[in-house]
Amino acid sequence: MPDLGWTLLYVAETDATLRYALLAALAAGISCLALALALAAAQERRQRLRSERAMRLTLERRVAERTADLSAANTRLRGEITERERATAALRATQDELIHAGRLAALGQISMAINHEINQPLAALRTFLSSSSVFLERGDTATVGRNLKRMTEVTQRIGEIIRHLKVFARKTGPEHWEPVRLGVAAAAALDLLAARIRAESVQVSCAIPPDAMVRAELVRLEQVILNLMVNALDSMRNTPERRLDLTAAREEASSWQLRVADSGSGIPEEHMPHVFDPFFTTKAAGEGLGLGLSLSSLIVRDFGGSLAAGNGTHGAVFTLVLPAAEA
Ligand code: ADP
Repeated sequence: MPDLGWTLLYVAETDATLRYALLAALAAGISCLALALALAAAQERRQRLRSERAMRLTLERRVAERTADLSAANTRLRGEITERERATAALRATQDELIHAGRLAALGQISMAINHEINQPLAALRTFLSSSSVFLERGDTATVGRNLKRMTEVTQRIGEIIRHLKVFARKTGPEHWEPVRLGVAAAAALDLLAARIRAESVQVSCAIPPDAMVRAELVRLEQVILNLMVNALDSMRNTPERRLDLTAAREEASSWQLRVADSGSGIPEEHMPHVFDPFFTTKAAGEGLGLGLSLSSLIVRDFGGSLAAGNGTHGAVFTLVLPAAEA
């Protein structure tokens, strides 16, 4: 205070001010640190986003490349599937043709017997006709009436044989699959061989339960059984006792088994692995093509069944297993 010539001194505590200053400095430091950290975090986030974007772009490019590869592979596969379907259809058609040709060949083989089977009733018809004209001249109308009835039966039999041959020779395919009575197929095959069985004095026994129904196709099943029976008859040509036994039994709940056994020469062990091979035959030229068993096994496999060869006590035994119709 210069007017008075005084000097006024004020003494105060500085600790509080210092603490304030320190706190302010600390707060400023923390703020700076937080700011630096925030800046660093922002920087890192930017970098992370940049690298994520780069990764996403790479991934998208790879996915696009893979997708292109996959769709190319898909197109190729679709082409291959179409090609395979075409090849399968062609194979199926060829197999159908082969099975049909085999059936016609089997018919050719038994044509002599069929010829005989038709000629016999024709001869009977001629005899009835000539005797009827004699009885007519004598005025024996009762006998003529009986003859006419017999002649009708004979013509019916001829008609049946021809109808059967027509059905047997027709082309068939999976569209004809149906529940088939094993007994009906066996009887139809026996019918085609009736003349030969009679001529060669073969004793036939057929024990097939009427409820033996299998999932098959009648004509092809008949073809298989006919092949087995023709082979059996051929093998018994030189044996004094000729027996052909057909027996059917349930194999499991879902299948039926048909055994075709003969009293012939049997199959030599060394032939056993080859009998189902196409063109394997031990028969003389013109008597066998060696296709019967291979086609039969093809047909049976197509039905979902199996065909096996073996020997019994006297001759060969063929075992045919087919899925039961209700399975
Ligand atoms: P193919 O009858 O034209 O010879 P298969 O394929 O039907 O043709 O039969 C092949 C071969 O299997 C026959 O030649 C025969 O040697 C043998 N075979 C088939 N069935 C019998 C059988 N029941 N007894 C003996 N051998 C048989």
